[in-house]
Amino acid sequence: MALVVQKYGGSSVGTIDRIRNVAGRLMDTQREGNRVIAVISAMSGVTDQLIGLAHQVMENPPERELDMLVSTGEQQSVALLCMAIAEMGGKAISLTGAQAGICTYGSHTRGRIGSISPGKIFEALNEGHIVVCAGFQGVAEDGDIHTLGRGGSDLSAIALAAAVKADICRIYTDVDGVYTCDPRVVREARKIPCLSYEEMLEMASSGSKVMQARSVELAKKYGVVFEVRNSMNNNSGTIVQEENSAMESLTVRGISIERNQARVTVSGITAPVAYTAIILTALAEAEINIDMIVANTAHDGRARQSFTMNMSELGAAQAALKGVLPMLGPEARLETEAGLAKLSVVGVGMRSNSGVAATVFRALADAGIVTGMIATSEIRISTTVEAADVERAARAVHAAFHLEQGS
Ligand code: ADP
Ligand code: ASP
Ligand code: MG
Repeated sequence: MALVVQKYGGSSVGTIDRIRNVAGRLMDTQREGNRVIAVISAMSGVTDQLIGLAHQVMENPPERELDMLVSTGEQQSVALLCMAIAEMGGKAISLTGAQAGICTYGSHTRGRIGSISPGKIFEALNEGHIVVCAGFQGVAEDGDIHTLGRGGSDLSAIALAAAVKADICRIYTDVDGVYTCDPRVVREARKIPCLSYEEMLEMASSGSKVMQARSVELAKKYGVVFEVRNSMNNNSGTIVQEENSAMESLTVRGISIERNQARVTVSGITAPVAYTAIILTALAEAEINIDMIVANTAHDGRARQSFTMNMSELGAAQAALKGVLPMLGPEARLETEAGLAKLSVVGVGMRSNSGVAATVFRALADAGIVTGMIATSEIRISTTVEAADVERAARAVHAAFHLEQGS
């Protein structure tokens, strides 16, 4: 008898019919002789709606109250799903994050899972229930509800799979698995049968939001092998696990795009030597997440430093940097550029193959696409492009690596 964790995302429970579909799938899995834990997201659109309501009330709602509000989205869907299972003659119980024993710490709206005490889950399993846990939420030591960041039900599922030592962990969504690029952007994209944790992590954190990046980090840490699958069919999906030698044979495995990027440049820096520390400290103190960083010194001795960030952080970054400009010399000034996007290519095979960057930038140049800042890791190359060009850029690079031919 296997212990199975199945996570269903918002689009998989987006309507009552879809909730019934999930109910049927969970009951089938139990009927096949498994013990079943489900982790469920809010119905698609509900989390955004709740956040929208909060912002109608006030511009900057307190994060504690936001958590209180948005966590209700998952409570609706788990209860409805258990009703659907009951209606079909099955036995299920819904649990909030707190009832499931998910203990969190850190900040509201981006809580971290500290520990899981799955006693109640096992009790319910032993009584023959399908256990339906609300994703995206946990409880802090002081009893407050924490949510786990957007896409956080993936994190709930991986953490629960690790805590209960599940035999199988499946993440069900609205596409057949992880593709060589978002299939809504590149029609020729192919499903990738097997990916390493590192590749999935680089893809997720560079814009392939099919999995939440933090959940992949956790899966790697605890060695949770998981499969991304489609909730509307029984096709095999993408298995994400430790790297193996077969994965290295392909240089590029996937392409990610991330929209809504902005660039900030501080130019005319003449003093002091530690200007990078001053700039980055100001941004860190304002809790601004920056991504690519480029610094250089022109022949006249003036330095400039540029970095990219999500558009939503641009205003706060400008405010934080204005305060330190006087410390960077009399001519230091800020320039900003919105309307950018980031394109990344990912693959563990890059470690042992040269010429990947040349192929990327040749493909982009041939397509007439202007590139901007560039950043690399051992298994990723990223560049900024104009937002209007990003889909064309993704298709050009996808074709240049023949990713449509699959592996
Ligand atoms: P869920 O509601 O199940 O959590 P998400 O919307 O978070 O689903 O993730 C699924 C979506 O991720 C797909 O519909 C697809 O458009 C998008 N996506 C982005 N990049 C990829 C990729 N490389 N492979 C598959 N899907 C991707
Ligand atoms: N409902 C939450 C969100 O929309 C969590 C999730 O779906 O994973 O971000
Ligand atoms: Mg998701």
